[in-house]
Amino acid sequence: MTDCIFCNIAKGEVPASVIYEDDRAIAFLDINPVSEGHTLVAPKQHCADIHEITDDEIAYLYKVVKKISGAVKQAMGAAGIKVEQNNGRSSGQIIFHFHIHIIPTPQKLSETTKDRFDETAEKIRKLL
Ligand code: AMP
Ligand code: ZN
Repeated sequence: MTDCIFCNIAKGEVPASVIYEDDRAIAFLDINPVSEGHTLVAPKQHCADIHEITDDEIAYLYKVVKKISGAVKQAMGAAGIKVEQNNGRSSGQIIFHFHIHIIPTPQKLSETTKDRFDETAEKIRKLL
């Protein structure tokens, strides 16, 4: 065990809901998701942030991000996918092992949802 949680996850020493793994990268569900399906992609080899990671490694990880984003979007029925990556405490980085967030964003307002808005408005109006 190291003192880096993501190194420990990469080594299989700390449990995680792993959705993809190869010799260089690992992707697993965020333990505190912004939305259902929120996934993190990290290199297996430790590096702290964008300033430390090599060009080759970051290029490889974004290939993995691209591959996984499609599956996450489809699996969650999401309208979009937000890809985020924090560097430094002031940016919100709390785990200092490079990782990329894949966050599914909700379906756009569908006709059904618009109908539901009308129903809700009607329900409220009736009470006035
Ligand atoms: P960041 O703020 O970019 O450093 O994001 C770190 C993310 O790692 C946060 O969204 C945490 O919820 C997530 N996280 C922390 N510990 C774990 C863990 N053991 N398994 C899965 N995700 C984790
Ligand atoms: Zn690490």
